[in-house]
Amino acid sequence: MLSVKIRANVVDDIQLAKAIESAGADIIHVDAMKEGAGADLDTIRRIRDATRIFLIGNNSIQSFDDAKEMFSRGADMVSVGRQAMDSPEIIDSLVDAVSEFQESTGWYNAPKHICRGQGDLRGLTFCCLPVKPCAVHNKAKQLGFSPREFANLKMEFVKGTPLEYGDSTCFGSLAWCCKITKPCFMRDGVLDLIDLSPQEYMKLKKQMADYILDHAKEK
Ligand code: SF4
Ligand code: SF4
Repeated sequence: MLSVKIRANVVDDIQLAKAIESAGADIIHVDAMKEGAGADLDTIRRIRDATRIFLIGNNSIQSFDDAKEMFSRGADMVSVGRQAMDSPEIIDSLVDAVSEFQESTGWYNAPKHICRGQGDLRGLTFCCLPVKPCAVHNKAKQLGFSPREFANLKMEFVKGTPLEYGDSTCFGSLAWCCKITKPCFMRDGVLDLIDLSPQEYMKLKKQMADYILDHAKEK
């Protein structure tokens, strides 16, 4: 297993991350350093969008909320630096919190919705049918999809899965439905009706995100 650690904002992060992935590394470990306080979360998101490599995010992780911010930009794992020296118990508390979060949500590092401006490309799994002018068009284009190709791909994935259902949702199928943390009685009503738990819903959404990225025409 080969892991490479880099520090953000020194050279071109995207070029470097792509080179590390192409060279065959298994893991990229990113110190998301930036000027001023806090971690450079946007660099984590941009590296996630440019690569499929296992990504460890590092910098300013002092709590589970900090870890969640990195997870929702595409980090698969986080690492803790100075905070672990001051409070070694943070390691156990993070492990417990991430495990509980996975159990309760079904997808511990689910992305943010793309329209919030912070979602990585995995967030396309939560996108609506591309019928209105919004961020979905540019994001689908980044993967080489026309709006129709994107729509067809999602419908192809859901065929034969519980996500195919959802007549009473905005676009007639759970394929187009939002993240479970966004309250919606229409989606939740369908989940109840087909006896699909919120966790199973999110696991299927994760599989759909992988399916979309696996079929990207531009990488
Ligand atoms: S398609 Fe829907 S979820 Fe996606 S960016 Fe547009 S408004 Fe947001
Ligand atoms: S039905 Fe609810 S979850 Fe589905 S797209 Fe509409 S608002 Fe989102």
